[in-house]
Amino acid sequence: MAMLSIDFRSLHEQAAIVEGEVSADDPAWREGDTLPEGAVHVSGRVSAAGEDRYYWHGTLTGMVTIPCRRCLTPTSEAVESEFHFILVEDGTEGADDDPDVFVIPAGAHEADLAPIVREQWVLDAPQFLLCREDCKGLCPTCGADLNAGDCGCIPVPKVTGADPRWDALRKLGGQSS
Ligand SMILES: [Zn+2]
Ligand SMILES: [Zn+2]
Repeated sequence: MAMLSIDFRSLHEQAAIVEGEVSADDPAWREGDTLPEGAVHVSGRVSAAGEDRYYWHGTLTGMVTIPCRRCLTPTSEAVESEFHFILVEDGTEGADDDPDVFVIPAGAHEADLAPIVREQWVLDAPQFLLCREDCKGLCPTCGADLNAGDCGCIPVPKVTGADPRWDALRKLGGQSS
């Protein structure tokens, strides 16, 4: 699939329909991003909104599959959102002041839209999912999935903070190695 881009020259004649996708291996993604399963699908309309600015209105859809926060079962959720962006050519006055404005190279014939899609996607995509609202998680002792039933372990009291005595021991260990 070709990179998601707009030919800006044509926009002063007429608005353009943008349809495409940003795949999960696109270089626009950064470490820590919740990646789409496969790709983020984008559709929308771009029009000129002046000499050096463009208006992009569209929707993005995709699927996220990440481990359940409690029991690690792969859990999926559909992501769909509507967005409005203003693309402004570099050097335009006030371009840097508006957080909804994306700067594109001045005089660009084409611009890669993947970084813009990425910004919207990371706002919309969940960072954590639960396989179900009342997921019981894994037993901290034996690792059994407690959704499948009680494993018979004696419940461990919740640890609220590390015991400072262990820190001292760890420091000693660190010095000797
Ligand atoms: Zn779960
Ligand atoms: Zn157990």
